[in-house]
Amino acid sequence: MAGKVIDGNMLAEELSEHVHEELQQLRVSGARPGLATILVGDDHAAAAYERHVRRLAERLECEYANEHLPDDAELADVLAVIGKLNADPRITGILVLRPMPSGISEPLVYRALDPYKDVEAVHPENAGLLAQGRPRFVPSTPASCFYLLDAYLRSTDREPESFYPGTTLVVVGRSDSVGKPAASLGLQRHATVVTCHSRTNDLAAFTRQADVLIVAAGVAGLVTGDMVRDGVIAVDVGIDPIKDPETGKVRFVGDIDFESVAAKAEAITPVPGGVGPITDVWLIGNAVSAAAAALRVEPRFGFTT
Ligand code: NAD
Repeated sequence: MAGKVIDGNMLAEELSEHVHEELQQLRVSGARPGLATILVGDDHAAAAYERHVRRLAERLECEYANEHLPDDAELADVLAVIGKLNADPRITGILVLRPMPSGISEPLVYRALDPYKDVEAVHPENAGLLAQGRPRFVPSTPASCFYLLDAYLRSTDREPESFYPGTTLVVVGRSDSVGKPAASLGLQRHATVVTCHSRTNDLAAFTRQADVLIVAAGVAGLVTGDMVRDGVIAVDVGIDPIKDPETGKVRFVGDIDFESVAAKAEAITPVPGGVGPITDVWLIGNAVSAAAAALRVEPRFGFTT
């Protein structure tokens, strides 16, 4: 079996049209959705992601601002910036880029966010609502996994509502930003969910049970073909840098060994071109939804469900 490759770029393009349209509609109602990012220090990956989000916001005509603090910024400096953005009516969504310098407590930063602008659902109130199955915001990466899965199921004439009950969803990774919310979203859809992590013994014994597999471990090629069953639907969240020993050039691969898993899968997402492009659009979609909520306008596109 050669698995169908799910085209995240195409789905992201469709989604960005919805977001753009929603944004234009909101402007007519007087709202101006705006996203702000906070970058502390000079982490290469975080800075690259900031530039990427900025370009996408410009393309979708969403107001955008970045607050860049130096490497030696202290918690109080970050909290002051958050206070300013919380109070700024032009900003409807705030993303704190990770990693932050090690001296800054992420939980304290997240707690300071206005929960109505916390588009990645990292504030305990939003994380709690998500865990209880009634999210205010669905964080962009796990949301993208299910957006892509649901789109694939519909393209094969299966309704997601009736597909997930009875299926086994295995999530590899338990980070607060990806693994845990992905497991919550799976439970919300009535899948039987198994979460694996770095202290799981015999990972393959669990991944082989998966009808749907979401891997977010940050380990290049962690899941190989012998670790999955025939017909699995595999979603690869990983974006792992690999340095070519000869040229020194860095390229990015996923957590799934694409060739061997694709040979057994019903469907699989590539890296790049799978989850990543949808994530970026979803983030801006959440800032747009937050603007709609502030205006008490029902968003036509369901980012908050
Ligand atoms: P993280 O480091 O916060 O968490 C990784 C998780 O994987 C941990 O829970 C850990 O226990 C688990 N893990 C690590 N090694 C493992 C192993 N050998 N076996 C089983 N579990 C293991 O990372 P994260 O922020 O959740 O990101 C995970 C990956 O997803 C990274 O490659 C990251 O770059 C990528 N990512 C992609 C997107 C996207 O839009 N596509 C967004 C966020 C993160």
